[in-house]
Amino acid sequence: MAKRVFITGIWHETNTFAKGRTGLEAFHAYQYAEGDALFAAFADTNTEIGGAMRAALELDLNLIPGLFAGAIPSGLIAAAAYQTLVRRSLDLLAAAGPIDGVLIHLHGACVAEGAPEADADFLAAIRRQLPNGTPMVATFDLHANLSDALIAGADALVGYDTYPHNDMGDRGAEAARLLHRMLWSARRPAKILRKLPFAPPPQVQGTAAAPVAAIMAKMHDMENWGEIWSASIAWGFPYADVAHLGVGVLVQGDDIDHTSRIADDLATTIWRQRGDFDAGLVGVEEAVRSAIAAPEGPIILVDVADNAGGGAPADGTSILAELLDQSARNAVIVLCDGQAVAAAKALGVDAIFSGMVGGKSDDLHGPPVPLVGEIIFQQRVRYQRRGDYMTGQRIDLGEVAVVQADGVTVMLTEAKAMPFDADHLAAAGIVAEAQKIIVVKSAIAWQAHFRAFAKGEIYVDTPGVCASNLRRFTYTQLTQATYPIDDDSIWRANNA
Ligand SMILES: [Zn+2]
Repeated sequence: MAKRVFITGIWHETNTFAKGRTGLEAFHAYQYAEGDALFAAFADTNTEIGGAMRAALELDLNLIPGLFAGAIPSGLIAAAAYQTLVRRSLDLLAAAGPIDGVLIHLHGACVAEGAPEADADFLAAIRRQLPNGTPMVATFDLHANLSDALIAGADALVGYDTYPHNDMGDRGAEAARLLHRMLWSARRPAKILRKLPFAPPPQVQGTAAAPVAAIMAKMHDMENWGEIWSASIAWGFPYADVAHLGVGVLVQGDDIDHTSRIADDLATTIWRQRGDFDAGLVGVEEAVRSAIAAPEGPIILVDVADNAGGGAPADGTSILAELLDQSARNAVIVLCDGQAVAAAKALGVDAIFSGMVGGKSDDLHGPPVPLVGEIIFQQRVRYQRRGDYMTGQRIDLGEVAVVQADGVTVMLTEAKAMPFDADHLAAAGIVAEAQKIIVVKSAIAWQAHFRAFAKGEIYVDTPGVCASNLRRFTYTQLTQATYPIDDDSIWRANNA
């Protein structure tokens, strides 16, 4: 008889340096589905649940829907919102009847008020409601800050292997296969976690580039050695002031010594190369000058500190101010500024906009900048992603206005636009390929689309809650000196 598998998840990458709290509405605005609607929402998508659904068909697992709640990375989750999601998940589990196993889709860098290790806390809450011995498999994002409590919370865990992330479906399927193995045998893998006091910024975590590509290749080789169930490296989310910050190597296998040796080997490899994770930042003025001087475009100016996908407000103005100052031509920048959009909407297309834009959500991403120009577009914008990254995801940017200020095109949006592709630009009539300069508020995710046609890229040393220069932040929760926040961090492999 088909085993009954409960599937549920809470997904949030929490930037504890970001202002404001993340409420329930942020989950409902981005991704929320429960009960049968869960399958309708994720069927045929490259997501953990989409992948688990595909594998469940092949493996003859009967998936019983819980919920999936995902919010765009942002500040600490409000206590009431977090508790509502956990309670709702537990209610759905209670209503599900007898359950043979559980699949849980997490981020691994989720922090709620009163629950600094929210992912581990969620696993424990589910566990408490299940009969002893019910197998649980969890997935986590490549940016997870893994902890002992998180690893203890499930019988096996599977992390994304790619950044930009494009293997969510495969990892969801892998989790379902591991669960299937445990459903039909009493075996459980030994889980070995090695944590490093090392927190590289996201922009140097790309899995297709050095130094990470070779380390991931080594991990995949070792994963194919006998007796290993699964291995993952979570490169961590550094914009979280939590005790469990940093890179985690997780290896799961039949033999504890063999599994430990592999985990130690991988952790040692990463630790020895920590100095190679260089952010290579260029100052704002120089970055804009170089982009203007480049013989051909588009040149991508990466505003990593205002990473819309990392919890930043996406209204940072430091690059815009410089583009205007240096009279850049054929440059485009997107800012999330609901006030400015409303003002433009009131004026209408063809009118002249004159007002302050950006820099309104906090005082960390540059002050509001005066902008004067013609309103060349104004509409409500909704679309579905066509690129390979988060394919099929439905996006609502709210009201959007485009202001042409001499050579600088400023796209103002009500909701944050994450540059996983150029679909948001196209939706407002802007042809990305035809630009000389494109500003992206992103760390790595922009590469999935824009690198295919960009003629150059410059990582800019801008201020903000996702700054690559981690020494801009004050950490109070770290339990040990962590590189590169501190130079004098120390780590030794357990077997060394
Ligand atoms: Zn991630």
